[in-house]
Amino acid sequence: MANAYIARVLSELESRYYHEPEFLQAAREMLLSLSPVFDQHPEFERAGLLERFVEPERVLIFRVPWVDDAGRAHVNRAYRVQFNSAIGPYKGGLRFHPSVTLGILKFLALEQTLKNSLTGMPLGGGKGGSDFDPKGKSDNEVMRFCQSMMNELYRHIGADTDVPAGDVGVGAREIGYLYGQFKRLTALNGGAITGKGLSYGGSQARTEATGYGLMYLTDAMLRHNGMDIQGMRAVFSGSGNVSIYAAEKAAQQGVRVIAMSDSLGFIHDEAGVDLNVVKQIKLKERGRISEYPARAGRGAYREGASGVWELACDLALPCAMQNELDGRSAARLIANGVRAVAEGANMPCTLEATALFQDAGVLFASGKAANAGGVAVSALEMSQNSQRLSWRFDAVDGELRDIMNRIFDTISRTARQYATPQDYVAGANIAGFLKVAEAMMAQGQV
Ligand code: NDP
Repeated sequence: MANAYIARVLSELESRYYHEPEFLQAAREMLLSLSPVFDQHPEFERAGLLERFVEPERVLIFRVPWVDDAGRAHVNRAYRVQFNSAIGPYKGGLRFHPSVTLGILKFLALEQTLKNSLTGMPLGGGKGGSDFDPKGKSDNEVMRFCQSMMNELYRHIGADTDVPAGDVGVGAREIGYLYGQFKRLTALNGGAITGKGLSYGGSQARTEATGYGLMYLTDAMLRHNGMDIQGMRAVFSGSGNVSIYAAEKAAQQGVRVIAMSDSLGFIHDEAGVDLNVVKQIKLKERGRISEYPARAGRGAYREGASGVWELACDLALPCAMQNELDGRSAARLIANGVRAVAEGANMPCTLEATALFQDAGVLFASGKAANAGGVAVSALEMSQNSQRLSWRFDAVDGELRDIMNRIFDTISRTARQYATPQDYVAGANIAGFLKVAEAMMAQGQV
């Protein structure tokens, strides 16, 4: 039974934002698991804490005009959702994808707020992006788009106010163009953007951080439950930044990576996917994963991204897009004996899929905890920028591993205290929320 205050706020949210289904889905997942907290803290209701928490502090919407290589003008929409700054400057990536809407960025910013809190670092939550599609655009077109976007965004960001980074469609190339324009406009070097290149203030291990962190947390979750990751067979969705480096760390942990996907289809290679080939195709050439069998000389390709969840595996690691793993896919994975699921992407499992995994006793780590490694190393990049120092790869990677282990301890302890021992979804939501709530209460009711 949901706490009455939570039920009221959720119902108001559902009628006000009926046109933002992803935001409502994320809010529902989070709010319903907070009931034990609100039962113990009636002062939160008196302070209107939840009504304040579910509304972003600020939303910026602006047009981004740009000119293609043929001289034609285009206009895209861009957003920055500054969701919550109670525990630090807004922090969260920028997404460039045709599906981007305000509702999707609000869901991402809400999740980011709890995720950043879980890292233990002083980071608020935000998210931004545009419906611009970098696919099929030349480098010069992407550059002109990024520069035009920054012409507006620069007024709203800064090392102590709001610090964007990459996300889907925003990798090293886009960050370079965005940062270059920010610097031209402000004459400031430093920490207003993370994910920077190593030659201009980036951190070692930032590229790998989300994927490596995902596997450190998965390993911690398995060990805590008496299982050994070594020798397990894993299926990954996506073949972008998160998926590729998660698969790389998994291989180092002795896991056999048998499948990966992109938005059009998936590859299945029982011998173990050759990640150098995937990196060459997807990161260097921006090609299709369908090219893998011919290039690697082994494995098979099948059309349809969701087919990847039909494969029998021990570990399922969704690392692509929200709602990519639905109830049907979850049922199939369970029937095929999956033992653990950890979300590399943000909200890749539908509410139905999550419930099925939890009911079946499959270990399940939600994205707020499982993919927090990226933002954690972004925070380390900010620290290095402030110090004017560059730490070695091993130092950053070691810190990342410690942070992910600490996050698992936190969500596991919180699950035991407030929910059931293996409910790591509730553990992450409650632990992330409590810190933000405490900071908001301390800072007064405005
Ligand atoms: P990338 O743009 O690097 O890669 C995205 C990958 O997902 C591509 O391989 C893309 O395929 C694939 N994809 C897109 N839509 C689908 C779909 N419907 N089904 C299957 N595959 C699909 O993004 P990232 O790796 O950076 O991000 C992936 C996820 O991880 C996102 O949810 C993001 O929010 C989350 N995340 C990212 C962090 C980071 O540090 N980058 C940090 C924390 C979370 P194609 O090439 O065909 O488009």
